[in-house]
Amino acid sequence: MTLLADAQAAGLSVRAAGDRLVVRGPRAAEHLARRLLARKEEVLPLLHAEEAAQAEIGWRAAALRPQVPPSGPIPFLVARDSVGANGRCLSCGDALEAGAQYRCRWCVRAVLLVLNEVREGVVPPPPGTSSAAPTSDDGSALP
Ligand SMILES: [Zn+2]
Repeated sequence: MTLLADAQAAGLSVRAAGDRLVVRGPRAAEHLARRLLARKEEVLPLLHAEEAAQAEIGWRAAALRPQVPPSGPIPFLVARDSVGANGRCLSCGDALEAGAQYRCRWCVRAVLLVLNEVREGVVPPPPGTSSAAPTSDDGSALP
């Protein structure tokens, strides 16, 4: 939903509190906040899905992070030990979705997250805050 992305880009913090939608941010973005609140029934499931995704990625990232050396070759990162059965994620052992060959989507996102953190020094903003970090023209983060 682009409305949610627009709201977050405008500096609004949008989160779910049970079945309530909590929107905070600058007065200048009030029109976006009102539109979000009017579409609460659509926005809440998105927020709950994002929360679930953050939980899935979070424990994987915590397991992967210590395996990334600050420099030099990066080993194959695994979120859990002793996995590798056919049709399973080589990192966490969860069932792979159609089209995925090695890692589930949560492990893919967790790997990108920890590689960016450890090797590139990129720390993502906490969920629900604006990700309006300055970027260069090619989309990479500026120091
Ligand atoms: Zn996985």
